[in-house]
Amino acid sequence: MPTLVTRPATRSLEGWAIATLREAGAIVECDEHGWMQERGDPHALARARDVARDDPPRGICSSEALAAIEEALAGIGDSCPDCSPSREPEELPRFK
Ligand SMILES: [Zn+2]
Repeated sequence: MPTLVTRPATRSLEGWAIATLREAGAIVECDEHGWMQERGDPHALARARDVARDDPPRGICSSEALAAIEEALAGIGDSCPDCSPSREPEELPRFK
């Protein structure tokens, strides 16, 4: 997961947050490149936050679980970087 900083103490919580976001449909993995992308679906995000609030992982309080969801989201873009060639300088439009 190149977009996420993994620290041993929080890695499993991050993994839970990613899995929860995927199950809720808030993020998807690019079929071609494997990057996580946020789908911008507010209902899916609400579902993921509901899970965090109502069913946090064992030993984690709901506010920590919610924070983990937000932290995971902060590390995920709304598009796959490898599917977005316009971000590469040589692919910029040559005229305006
Ligand atoms: Zn891609």
